[in-house]
Amino acid sequence: MASSSSDLPPAATPDLFQNENAALDKARAMHAMTDANAAEYRASLGELIDQFERLMRETRRLIGRSDRAEREMQALAQQLAHRASHDALTGVLNRSAVIEQAAKALRTTSTAMIVLDIDEFKRINDDFGHPTGDAVILGVVDCLRRIVGDRGFIGRVGGEEFTVLLPGHDPDGAALLAERMREAISDTLIVPPVDRRITASFGVSNSEAGTGFDIAYGLADAALYRAKRSGRNRVEIADL
Ligand code: GH3
Ligand code: MG
Ligand code: MG
Repeated sequence: MASSSSDLPPAATPDLFQNENAALDKARAMHAMTDANAAEYRASLGELIDQFERLMRETRRLIGRSDRAEREMQALAQQLAHRASHDALTGVLNRSAVIEQAAKALRTTSTAMIVLDIDEFKRINDDFGHPTGDAVILGVVDCLRRIVGDRGFIGRVGGEEFTVLLPGHDPDGAALLAERMREAISDTLIVPPVDRRITASFGVSNSEAGTGFDIAYGLADAALYRAKRSGRNRVEIADL
């Protein structure tokens, strides 16, 4: 009758230090002997030296490998943290990171929030294809990066809708910056084969410290809606 695998004796755990243990046993036996000659002592010591050196080489190799694995883990953890808070296409903050940054800024300082949306973007997709639409999105983000620099945070909150957060900014400065972004897109952005002017509409809100994210965003969004209704490629400022 064929025996099932459960009938087999448990597999012996291989002794990782078989050679070292054998050398150690020999050395112990030799050490206990009082009548061995010098050649026998030397041979036993020689074997022990060989095994000890091999053990050191192996340990160095393992330490090197574990250091490399630790560095790789750290790099992976950083990549994961970056992916969790950034948009894959453009590399700017994603929606949840924008909300987090805005809420953080608004807790302590007055903050300007600029919401912008590419004009007639659906037609660009329809006429030139989705990959060209993506290239337009990247071009718009390039323009925003050039103007915003390290003054604030850029985030992608929807398909072709972005938010620029300017913590500590005064209303006039924020309006000026939004105007410069609008100009940079409409006057300089060229994405072949798009053969028409690419533009975006902007809404700006200025909120005191302590304002909730939803209020600040809602005000900017309502201003953006006005900019769209008034003909697009415009900046509208929310009423305070
Ligand atoms: P409006 O001027 O009123 O903003 O018109 P619009 O055509 O830009 O607005 P609408 O919201 O109707 O269209 C947005 C389009 O954006 C629809 C959607 O297919 C497209 N879209 C959303 N996300 C992406 C993306 O990641 N890549 C591309 N290529 N298109 C996207
Ligand atoms: Mg939109
Ligand atoms: Mg749009």
